Amino acid sequence: MGIDNHYEELRKSDRDHLWHPFTQMKQWAEEEPLIITEGRGAFIKDMRGRWYLDGVSSLWVNIHGHRHPRIDEALKAQIDAVAHTTTLGLGNEPSILLAERIAKMIARSLGRFAGGEDNPQPPSRVFYSDNGSTAVEVALKMAFQYHLHKGREGRNTFISLNNAYHGDTLGAVSVGGIGIFHEAFGPLLMKTHKAPSPFCYRCELGHADNSGCGMQCLGRMEEMILEHVHEVAAVIVEPLVQAAGGMLVSVPGYLKGVRELCSRYGVPLIVDEIATGFGRTGSMLACEHEEVVPDILCLSKGITGGYLPLAVTVATDEIYGAFLGEFKDLKTFFHGHSYTGNPLGCAAALACLDIFEEERTIETLAPKIAAMEQGLAALLDHPNVGHVRNAGLMAGVELVRDRSTSEPFAWEQKMGWRVTHALRRRGVIIRPLGNVLVLMPPLCTAAEDISAMMKYVAGSVEEVLPQ
Ligand code: PMP
Repeated sequence: MGIDNHYEELRKSDRDHLWHPFTQMKQWAEEEPLIITEGRGAFIKDMRGRWYLDGVSSLWVNIHGHRHPRIDEALKAQIDAVAHTTTLGLGNEPSILLAERIAKMIARSLGRFAGGEDNPQPPSRVFYSDNGSTAVEVALKMAFQYHLHKGREGRNTFISLNNAYHGDTLGAVSVGGIGIFHEAFGPLLMKTHKAPSPFCYRCELGHADNSGCGMQCLGRMEEMILEHVHEVAAVIVEPLVQAAGGMLVSVPGYLKGVRELCSRYGVPLIVDEIATGFGRTGSMLACEHEEVVPDILCLSKGITGGYLPLAVTVATDEIYGAFLGEFKDLKTFFHGHSYTGNPLGCAAALACLDIFEEERTIETLAPKIAAMEQGLAALLDHPNVGHVRNAGLMAGVELVRDRSTSEPFAWEQKMGWRVTHALRRRGVIIRPLGNVLVLMPPLCTAAEDISAMMKYVAGSVEEVLPQ
């Protein structure tokens, strides 16, 4: 059968049976979707044999590239042993080894900041689940039950941020703050309190930038904690970048400020590093940039190098210790999933961490980040580029109708999508968030490929919005 016939068959099957996530299926049915068949390094190939730079790391998960021999081999070896056995009442080797490696990785990244007035000892107790959303659910339930075990009743709400995204399950949606994704589910959600997003370009408190406002968003956070301290189980934030909110880079010092407040008022801090973890921001964990140690840390996405779904929620000894007791005390954490601690996922994650060490991945990032920042700065030459921002290799390019007023394009104009399609014709795959072009290539992408990608982005903006 010719490739074209096979493509048409698959396309029909897809149209008839598959429901794609975050996708208006009526529109999807009218499109000619790319169907990906292969990957190598930072590139993926479609059925017609065209290669593309994987400019969003297959939705922010790929780190060391597709088909990295180290991860491929680790998975093959694990398959030859066993694919899955449960961690409910049994152990398995990869999940045990990985828990230790994750704890060591966190200690290496954040241990030097521990102690002192604000930071606890680094989280070191690993609880497995399957994806970012479940890692957050686990964190929320853990924080809530921790207070119960400490004899503090009534801590049954959370403080989170406007523009936050922590996943799509109902607990995670409850602490989310993106209207277009989350509002419809309002009647199903638990009560939470929303602090202002620490994003200066579109400051919701009306300040033009951080100069002179004294970080009022942090001040609001303090007021909220004070007002609700007896009912708050935890504060949850994405460190440095509110990613799905539009790659909103936080004002410097905000994360550290939240850590100080949480310690001052005795509220645990949950840090969701699901998007930022594993080198995306230029250091292993984003918390490193502000010398912050969380009480509970959520990791997923890059944990397996982008191979398999796996997540961890890592708690400090203080939190973990509160769950220890006699069987009859019912202090057990009653949570777990069928695939908790899946050996294949854990084997991929171990290999992923090996590569970080063997290839000294973090040390290779500086010239790549520089290439990206150079390209971002050049994009500001275009009058419809209102703002560019990045933390390491996580970047956002915000398209605006009018730069002088920051007036956005109407959502229905699909400006992000139009540029994305122009970019696809140039051989780069990305996925926008509204008017924001999201650029997040795998960490293994060569600096030259990042420079080329940035030039293609400029060309695509120019094609869709000629000056
Ligand atoms: N938290 C953050 C910060 C995320 O960016 C995401 C996914 N984009 C999630 C949680 C949810 O992860 P998942 O899609 O694996 O459930």
